[in-house]
Amino acid sequence: MTREQAAARETRADFEALDAADPLAPCRARFALPRGVIYLDGNSLGPLTHAAVDRAQAVVTREWGEGLIRSWNEADWINLPARVAAKVARLIGASADEVTVADSTSINLFKLLAAARGLRPGRHVLLTEAENFPTDVYVAEGLAELLSGSVMLRVVPRAELLHALDEQVALLFLTEVDYKSGARHGVAAMTRRAHEAGALALWDLSHSVGALPIDLRGAGADLAVGCGYKYLNGGPGAPAFLYVAKPWHEAIHPVLSGWMGHARPFDFALGYQPASGIARFQAGTPSVIALSILDSALDEFEGVSLDAVRAKSSALSEAFIRLVESRCAGHGLTLASPRDATQRGSQVSFRHAHGYPIMQALIARGVIGDFRAPDLLRFGFAPLYVRHVDVWDAVAVLEAVLTSGEWRDPRFASVATVT
Ligand SMILES: *Cc1c(COP(=O)(O)O)cnc(C)c1O
Repeated sequence: MTREQAAARETRADFEALDAADPLAPCRARFALPRGVIYLDGNSLGPLTHAAVDRAQAVVTREWGEGLIRSWNEADWINLPARVAAKVARLIGASADEVTVADSTSINLFKLLAAARGLRPGRHVLLTEAENFPTDVYVAEGLAELLSGSVMLRVVPRAELLHALDEQVALLFLTEVDYKSGARHGVAAMTRRAHEAGALALWDLSHSVGALPIDLRGAGADLAVGCGYKYLNGGPGAPAFLYVAKPWHEAIHPVLSGWMGHARPFDFALGYQPASGIARFQAGTPSVIALSILDSALDEFEGVSLDAVRAKSSALSEAFIRLVESRCAGHGLTLASPRDATQRGSQVSFRHAHGYPIMQALIARGVIGDFRAPDLLRFGFAPLYVRHVDVWDAVAVLEAVLTSGEWRDPRFASVATVT
């Protein structure tokens, strides 16, 4: 029996049976998902949890409203970044004192790229791939312009990375999972290649953290950053994280040398002295409300096996590809993600010449994915709340949108600011 024949025999009941046997199924009830929505965009913005609603309420009305400035001590706001970092550390194979949570991914990347330039004396090149997420490249461009002469940016196509990794390269910075195709780098293998070339390796984990197991220590990664509002569900613009491997802690000097990263901020002394360890990468006052929500969202990963998350994510994405290719055949969709699940993150992308209006028509029917120019439909499978049966239902809606041609309605053609 071919894959297509097998797919043609599948029924919704098969997917209900998978949900009934799913060890992660109980996690879904923790999320405040709107009725009638199949949410396949947790790779871009994770959904709200019920606990986060309560936590936001408490931090605003009780801690801030009643506690006022006393809450820095009484609610221990001052150590909130470290408490949140400990929860992130477990998800990325780091120890708690190698991670801090602050600012955005873009800013944390700038902080680390700028600070790392002293770690490989005599080398001036920051190397990345053209496929990297645009902000990662833009931030490095800005740094290279600021420090022209002492930092140079080299951007090459993925296929040329190893060739470009020469004795001038101080640091290789890459994103583990490609935001467009979902293609995944081997973190350990690429880190090894960087080290063999005498360079450091920095990983952006924005599209992987919370969706697959990550072992920064095992990979020997030097530096990392990642996003709090995608699979971690920390809310729009949630604080991001930053990782520095222990061996670099005393050698790496922050460039955004703010008071919160000072050894003794409340001495208000003249002259910057970095705090010991990772704390030096706090620059300004932590965003307590946003951090509290992220803190709460991270509790949803407590006791959850990332291997189970990964296994379910692979099963969901495999089923999605199989069903789309059998039930939507002949409608012009082509797979834009690696076919091998081990080579993907937790998202699947299909190309279509009319990708934008098709996605708008899907969203109008409650199947929320997103669109990336020029022609990509992206579908993210976040295993804590996406059910097997959602995959079945989403493909049924996609099939209906394509066969009816309803996406041709002019109301789906006008492009919004955020896609
Ligand atoms: C989402 C994402 C970002 C986002 O950066 P912000 O500073 O939060 O806007 C950065 N890099 C990658 C690889 C991402 O996927």
